[in-house]
Order: sequence, then structure tokens, then C-alpha cells
Amino acid sequence: MDYILRTTALNKHYKGCKALHGLSMNIPKGSIYGFIGKNGAGKTTLIRLICGLQEPTSGEYTLYGRKNTDKEIGKSRRRMGAVVETPSIYLDMTAEDNLKQQYRILGLPSFEGLVDILKLVGLEDTGKKKAKHFSLGMRQRLGIGIALVGSPDFLVLDEPVNGLDPQGIIEMRELISNLNRKQQITVLVSSHILDELAKFATHYGFIDQGRMVREMSAEELNEACRKCIHVEVSDTKILAHVLDGMELEYKILSGRDADIYANVNVSRLALALAEYGCEVFSMQERGESLESYYVNLIGGAKNE
Ligand code: ATP
Repeated sequence: MDYILRTTALNKHYKGCKALHGLSMNIPKGSIYGFIGKNGAGKTTLIRLICGLQEPTSGEYTLYGRKNTDKEIGKSRRRMGAVVETPSIYLDMTAEDNLKQQYRILGLPSFEGLVDILKLVGLEDTGKKKAKHFSLGMRQRLGIGIALVGSPDFLVLDEPVNGLDPQGIIEMRELISNLNRKQQITVLVSSHILDELAKFATHYGFIDQGRMVREMSAEELNEACRKCIHVEVSDTKILAHVLDGMELEYKILSGRDADIYANVNVSRLALALAEYGCEVFSMQERGESLESYYVNLIGGAKNE
């Protein structure tokens, strides 16, 4: 697998505080990587390091295969766009003028692509309206538009849905998904609420107290949270035969127990098994919600 970013045993210490504690993180190319952790877990610190706003205390990372200590790391950073904490926008300027300003800052020779960026972030009809009159969602999208100047293929967004209303969250989700699918941009997006990312992230990294607790794909997370019926029987070979006949999806865990991923008519199943002389010892619904999985993994309340 190709990775845009890999960190190895990354540490960032402040006086009396280990903001990052041996963090290992791997962002696959083409992914939407949901970076999840409570407030104070270390998300912004990691983002600040990879953007070059701060130096790690120890450990290293590679960006597009280039080490952070490489003197050409700036070349890798030029392929990144980021919105860290609040978007840096000029409130007295229109969306278009804000973008033009960024073109100038990057020293780009023309405003080529500017209209496309305005369309991408849904601000093409804002005309002469100044950013100070924008909604929070529009400001966030303008921040992303500014980060898109220079055509990055890796976008880093620190809590982009923080404070947005439900409609704003939906628009942000659609924008990020579009950028990922249509423009092939890899996205790192942080949040402290898993549910907000669960509808579009393809990979996850769960961080707690500066440590990576787990990295997993969306499929693995769905599998871990999937509802099922856990059954204990005298013979799972017979169980498999009966479930195949009923065209139900299942997973045999041992000679005595299995998980069935479907709505099962319990009495029909028990009768069918009895016909083959297979006893049922127990049946139990299992599975977790995303939030309870997250709370169990990280330990503690989700929104602290
Ligand atoms: P939030 O969601 O609140 O932004 P976060 O996961 O982004 O949280 P960080 O901002 O990275 O967390 O902070 C991680 C830890 O490092 C916190 O305990 C924070 O207080 C501490 N910290 C961050 N910046 C500094 C600093 N400049 N000086 C001292 N401590 C800091």
C-alpha cells in the first residue's frame, strides 16, 4: 500500500505535558482518514507538526516518502493544503478576493483554477458579499478553498465540522467526499465525534493521550460494530449446513459457537437443528454502536 504520511514513535513534549507519546500513524494514499480523539488527545499537535508549524521532540515522519529531516521536505509540504484550528481568512474581503490573496502568497503566476475552486466549495454565487457576513459553514468552506489553491493532493482539516449546524455538517461531508472521489485528494480530517466522520471516512486512527490506540479501515470498524446473533450449539458443522440451507450469512468461531449476521427466526432455526440432532445451548444478540465501540476503545466520555 502507498502511504502519504507515516509517523514513527513521534514525540512532542511541552513543559510537564506529553502531547504526543510515541505516535505511529499511517495514512494510505486516496483515503479519507478520520483522526479521532477526545479534546486534548493530541490531534492538533500532530497536525501542526506535519504542517511544519512545530518540530517534534523526537521520532520522525515521512511525507510522500520524504523524511521530516530531509532538507527538501518543503517540496512535500507544497503538495499539502491545510486548515488548522480556525480558517485564516480576511473577513473584509469577498470569497474571490480571499482566494486571489492566497494565489499571490504562493507566488502563482495567474489566477487559473480560481473559479473552479469557488464552485468546488459552493461559494461561486457569493459575489460581493464579504466573508464577515458568511455563515460559519461558508467560512469553513472558504478556508478549504484557500487550502486548495496550488492544487494540493493531500488536504489536512482540523475539526472542520466543529460548531456547524446539521445542514453545515452535511455540506462539509459532501465537499470532503467530492474532493476525495472526484479530485483524488487524500484527506486527513480530525474530530472528537466518531459519528460525524463515520459516514464518509475510509480509514480511522484513534488517538488517546498522545498515543495511537488503533488504526483500522472503515470495513474493519463496521465489522467490529456489526450486529449479530451469537449461538452456542453442540455441532457447528450441522449449524453451517442448516444456515447454508436458509441462505444466511454467518461465521463459525469454533466447533461449538458461531455468529449469524441476519435476522433469524429463532424457533425455525432451533427446529431445523433439532431434526439433525444438534442442540442449541444459547443464543445472544451481540454488536456495538459506533459510539460505544469508541468509548470502549478510548475509555471515558466521548465529548469531554
Ligand atoms: P482539541 O480537540 O481540544 O483541539 P487536540 O486533540 O487537538 O484537542 P492538542 O491541542 O494537540 O489536542 O493538545 C494535546 C495536549 O498538549 C493537551 O494537553 C494540550 O493542553 C497540550 N498542549 C498543546 N499545545 C501546547 C502548548 N503550546 N504548550 C503547552 N501545552 C500544550
